[in-house]
Amino acid sequence: MRTPFIAGNWKMFKTGLEAVTFAEEFKELYKDADVKTAICAPFVYLSLLKKLFAGTNVKVGAQNAFYEDEGAFTGEVSVKMLEDVGVDYCVIGHSERRQYFGETNEAINKKLKRLLAGSITPILCVGENLEQREQEEQYMVVRDQLVGAFAGIAAKDAARIVIAYEPVWAIGTGKTATPEEAEDMCEFIRNAVEALYGEKTADKVVIQYGGSVKPANATEIMNMSNIDGALVGGASLKAKDFMEIIDF
Ligand code: 13P
Repeated sequence: MRTPFIAGNWKMFKTGLEAVTFAEEFKELYKDADVKTAICAPFVYLSLLKKLFAGTNVKVGAQNAFYEDEGAFTGEVSVKMLEDVGVDYCVIGHSERRQYFGETNEAINKKLKRLLAGSITPILCVGENLEQREQEEQYMVVRDQLVGAFAGIAAKDAARIVIAYEPVWAIGTGKTATPEEAEDMCEFIRNAVEALYGEKTADKVVIQYGGSVKPANATEIMNMSNIDGALVGGASLKAKDFMEIIDF
């Protein structure tokens, strides 16, 4: 059985004080449920959030990492550094990183491999943009992203990767994919993992949907059989909204 996993992605939002306020409010509301949860925050607040959530089941994630452990890579943060501050998860290949920072499938593959060599669980994002969906290229695009990301990764490691299907046209637009559209692609993703690694691995892989998930639509999305969780942007910035999604 796959345990539901709902993660917040704060993107580039909040100050330190706002992060503290969120954590205090969230800890008040949070009750242990049969759902794993994490907040993926900007690098500078990861240590702070680890301290704030110490003693709870709320995990902490980064939004990116570099694949080299150290070196002359100004502005980058290594997986080793994230491990050092106790980070639990790391988002890799978010569409905003692919779109604005030129992240390629090759770089994403290297980052995944480095994360899998250590203790942090990767959350790999895949998803097509509006033009690709209009051209009916979404399956091809997502398959290419998966094949590129998983290249050279063994089945036992692949099973540890959380995959987030985030159609770019549904991110921050208020335009959610219908639960059927989301399920359809999540099923396609599970089948693609099965084609690469077999049924056992495909059964284990946790697949999230992301894109305008809100308290109002979380239940029907989470009820889909191939959707095991959500990656929540905007609605994870408010403790009450995020808790309502976890409570779906
Ligand atoms: P929104 O929930 O704000 O649409 O963002 C989704 C997302 O990109 C999460 O990674």
